[in-house]
Amino acid sequence: MLNIKKLVRSNILDLQPYSSARDEFSGSEGVFLDANENPYGEFNRYPDPYQKELKQKLAVQKGVDIDTIFVGNGSDEVIDLAFRVFCDPGMDKALTFTPTYGMYDVSAAINNVKLLKIPLNKEFQIDRTTLDHKRDDKSIKLVFICSPNNPTGNLMNQRDIEFILENFNSIVIIDEAYIDFAEGDSLINLIDKYSNLIVCQTFSKAWGLAAARVGMAYSNSEIISLLNKIKPPYNVSKLNQNLAVQALENKALYKAHLKRILSEKIKLKNALDKLDVVKKIYPSDANFFLIEVTNAEAVYAALVAQDIIIRKRTKLVPNGLRITVGTAQENQSLITALKNIS
Ligand code: PMP
Repeated sequence: MLNIKKLVRSNILDLQPYSSARDEFSGSEGVFLDANENPYGEFNRYPDPYQKELKQKLAVQKGVDIDTIFVGNGSDEVIDLAFRVFCDPGMDKALTFTPTYGMYDVSAAINNVKLLKIPLNKEFQIDRTTLDHKRDDKSIKLVFICSPNNPTGNLMNQRDIEFILENFNSIVIIDEAYIDFAEGDSLINLIDKYSNLIVCQTFSKAWGLAAARVGMAYSNSEIISLLNKIKPPYNVSKLNQNLAVQALENKALYKAHLKRILSEKIKLKNALDKLDVVKKIYPSDANFFLIEVTNAEAVYAALVAQDIIIRKRTKLVPNGLRITVGTAQENQSLITALKNIS
């Protein structure tokens, strides 16, 4: 078991957190004259800073204790907060495996933290032989592993993730933004086993609430308290908390959308497979495909000219394009447009 306190920035350990009006009195009955709110209107009151109703629902759904859940303004907020809890700017480092999600790099840069990037192997898996000299680097405070990985689409091997959890003196963040689409299981069930594990998930993908900005971190209560200690007091609006609660209450809709996306995904793959312009489709456990074409710039431009917008990933994967699975009609429009190119 790692001593988490040893990984935390000393100024964060010493920090006296802001105490909001709702921290000091959290009951729901009474005459509230404590938060300088406007007494009129429907959305005049500050939201619950700890999102209890939402967390209670998540706790039941995930089979975890409420104090192992943090809710952020999207999981991007969790990524940024993790840097601020654990990495001393200009001194500490973080580590990730590339190609991967670009915000680890941006958040690292914003926080003036060096992000070490280890290339994934040809199957986009972690190559353990590349880890040897990194294991003992005490300045690596955070390791980001995206699984399923964006933009490659694959799940990372669990045994490699556990190897890192066991062998690095670092907090390991498993970013599971796309886990609902995957065949494999979430690693949330490992948060009791590894004191250095944080698992991030989001309402932005399978739950269809990207506009709402609600993301979660699951970890032990010590790490969750640290995230709570430094977050802005009312980081998730009441409107957004309500939308997430409503989504959890309507699981049938979530399941129906998930089923449709997964069946469209199979159809899209079959259609892409038949096109000469597509040289390779990488296996995907997410709601998108990474494909390789001969000239990605030209294909991208030709699609934009036909009002079809996909994601150019050429800086991460040579001639790589990332395609999100859309509705049947959207996917058909893409395939028709690609046929016009080939
Ligand atoms: N992680 C990954 C791997 C992502 O692809 C994204 C969004 N593109 C995020 C996190 C951020 O998600 P959120 O909308 O919850 O901030």
